[in-house]
Amino acid sequence: MEVIQSFTIDHTHLKPGIYVSRKDKGFTTFDLRITEPNKEPAVSPAAMHSLEHLMATWFRNSKVKEDVVYVGPMGCLTGMYIVMTGIYTVEDMRKLTIDCLNWILKQKEVPATTAETCGNYLLHDLPMCKWESKRYLNRLKKDFHSKYTKLKITLSDGKTFADA
Ligand SMILES: [Zn+2]
Repeated sequence: MEVIQSFTIDHTHLKPGIYVSRKDKGFTTFDLRITEPNKEPAVSPAAMHSLEHLMATWFRNSKVKEDVVYVGPMGCLTGMYIVMTGIYTVEDMRKLTIDCLNWILKQKEVPATTAETCGNYLLHDLPMCKWESKRYLNRLKKDFHSKYTKLKITLSDGKTFADA
């Protein structure tokens, strides 16, 4: 099995921000990195689940809704993936995410939190979701990062994976 692209990123130098995780088949996968991996506490499962519901709701109702393919959390709970069709830059996504987070801060409930509409409807935490949203919002405005540091992984055929 080959090392997949997202595992070639040097996570020890990854700051909160927005990165292009990959571009393929007309899709761009954006890495919305909310916390600093392995240095700060990851987002709690309940807060991340609420963030997923809220971000997906906002993006799928936004002016770019036709181009939103997928919104979902990373298993490591340090960020969210958003897959888009069409041409979007990191700066486009930064502006959209800032609008999204401002909207989240005004919400009084998490959408679709019933047993019928969610696979784990008790696993939600709106206050903590808002706390994470506010901190991420400030980071997107004042301390923005968008350039990955790649790990140099040498494959068995001698090629390096750094520019995969
Ligand atoms: Zn859910």
